[in-house]
Amino acid sequence: MSGLPSPATSLPLAGSLPDTAPALRIDLAAIRANYLSMRRRYRGRVLSAVVKSNAYGTGLDPVVPTLVEAGCRHFWAGDLDEALAVRALAPDASAFALMGLGGAHARDFEAAGVIPALATLAEVEHCARHAVIARRRLPVAIQLDTGLGRLGLSEGEVAALAGHASLLDHLDIRLWVTHLAAYNLPDDPENAAQRSRLLEWLRPLPRAPISLAASSGVYMPDDWHFDVARVGSALFGVQTSVAWQEGLAPCYELSAPIVRVAEYPAGKRLGYRGVTRLEKPSRIATAAIGYANGLPQRFAEIGTVQFGGVAVRPVGGIAMNLTMLDVTDVPPAALAEGARAVVFNADNPLEPVAERLGCAPNVLLTQIGAGTRRHYVGG
Ligand SMILES: *Cc1c(COP(=O)(O)O)cnc(C)c1O
Repeated sequence: MSGLPSPATSLPLAGSLPDTAPALRIDLAAIRANYLSMRRRYRGRVLSAVVKSNAYGTGLDPVVPTLVEAGCRHFWAGDLDEALAVRALAPDASAFALMGLGGAHARDFEAAGVIPALATLAEVEHCARHAVIARRRLPVAIQLDTGLGRLGLSEGEVAALAGHASLLDHLDIRLWVTHLAAYNLPDDPENAAQRSRLLEWLRPLPRAPISLAASSGVYMPDDWHFDVARVGSALFGVQTSVAWQEGLAPCYELSAPIVRVAEYPAGKRLGYRGVTRLEKPSRIATAAIGYANGLPQRFAEIGTVQFGGVAVRPVGGIAMNLTMLDVTDVPPAALAEGARAVVFNADNPLEPVAERLGCAPNVLLTQIGAGTRRHYVGG
């Protein structure tokens, strides 16, 4: 027999084929340290953790127990289902649902041991009615819309409630909750306006602890702290204010393996519709990461990724699961098998890229978390 040699002896073994999975590494030790760092700074009583949207994409299952270990006993989920998942991971902690009843019945929250953050007057009335029938006071938080205009009781609804304060006798109000519209601008006068509206609106209402501060509020002066802070972004090391939030470490590292390296002459066009034309002979690496892993398409125009300490630019656009990188200036040793392109990490954080894209860093964090296999260190 002549022709091709036997495949069994001439082809590389499967074990040496390249890894093609992008990965999001989450450092649980950083999350724990961020919580403890804020705990030292915060002058209120309870530093609660916001873990909505699967802990901002970082994964509830490892993140909730990490925070429990750090001493956190109060959690905010998005809806009832997510709060149930939190309860399963932290049975001794309080779990709140930020979306209010979200169409569920008050008795479902009671059965689940989840506290709804009531968002409308109709929800307050529903819970009071249920409490009368069940002959039990129902634990709730109540959201007040002091300025954001998004969710919670308006000024008129608060006045109506104050006129029917007996309604509230049936409720065990655990918290009055409000959220700053200018959370990222500590000195914005609208923050002070919201704060005084809050205090004025609460005067005729039953006394209960107040929750105003989100992550950025913990870094504002003590008179913004009140009783309970609700921190999300800062747990993951994401900055949310024009004022630098000292002592936080990014918990994420998004990286992608190189699945091919090729040499092309000047003039070669790359990507869909030949979007990039090479000016000079170039070495192009294909990284296994794309927009389905949370990289926005505009990242091709504004982003760089790190290659053994060298910043390289995408070429040819961002596809669903693949991105080409111009690695002409990367030392060939850094392109050896197993080399990975680092997209985001503590040295290359989300914030500057988000700023250039015109979005919040959490847009990127939640998208990379939802689209990419996560693994955990520091647990
Ligand atoms: C998401 C959210 C938070 C957490 O905000 P961060 O800025 O991420 O800390 C707090 N409160 C409410 C009502 C929220 O929706």
